[in-house]
Amino acid sequence: MRFRNKPWAGEKIRQYPQYVISEPETHKGKWHEVFGNANPLHIEVGTGKGRFITGMAAANPDINYLGVELHMGVLASALDRLIEAELPNVKLLNVNAAELLSYFAKNDISRLYLNFSDPWPKTRHEKRRLTYKSFLDLYEQILIDGGEIHFKTDNQGLFEYSLVSFSEYGMLLKNVSLDLHNSGFEGNIMTEYEEKFSGKGNRIYRCEVQYQS
Ligand code: SAM
Repeated sequence: MRFRNKPWAGEKIRQYPQYVISEPETHKGKWHEVFGNANPLHIEVGTGKGRFITGMAAANPDINYLGVELHMGVLASALDRLIEAELPNVKLLNVNAAELLSYFAKNDISRLYLNFSDPWPKTRHEKRRLTYKSFLDLYEQILIDGGEIHFKTDNQGLFEYSLVSFSEYGMLLKNVSLDLHNSGFEGNIMTEYEEKFSGKGNRIYRCEVQYQS
């Protein structure tokens, strides 16, 4: 993704504290208070411009959603979507996924989505991949027991790498698809990248994986 310099993004984000959580560490272990209910919380790590998380929130009003995005300028685009959608069950976090333990306690999250994560194809950058074992360990520390990761990408190399990483971590692989859009899967909500790259003819890979207690 290209990151355009958006000097106004920080100011805009500050204007919408109801959508972009400003001090996430204060909600660790009690995120239900932020949403005002005890519904399950699902997060998308690397949410980009927010198409998926907003679509999921609209389709599933009994689930709370948080989009985690590192880049403020990108998050500002996701914020525009939230403002327009006016949904009570979706919010955003402008933080680095590597620091999720600062913001979430064990059992805070029921499911984690990774969509079109940056592939970091060079071997020396393996540790940056969001499906590297240290990230799987981190996610396990904030998910419920038996929590799941749902992962989509058009990058075959990242998908193959991730299947091995999930498997070596001891996770249960479920519903693996090598061609999501021709798989009969119902209820798929496309991300921005998914729309762009499937539009170019790329196949979309998807899997669900579950932590084993
Ligand atoms: N999920 C969106 C989609 O499918 O359209 C965006 C995909 S884009 C390739 C990856 C996104 O992940 C970027 O917006 C990037 O800023 C974000 N990202 C990458 N590393 C991150 C990290 N460590 N923490 C939070 N977000 C991250």
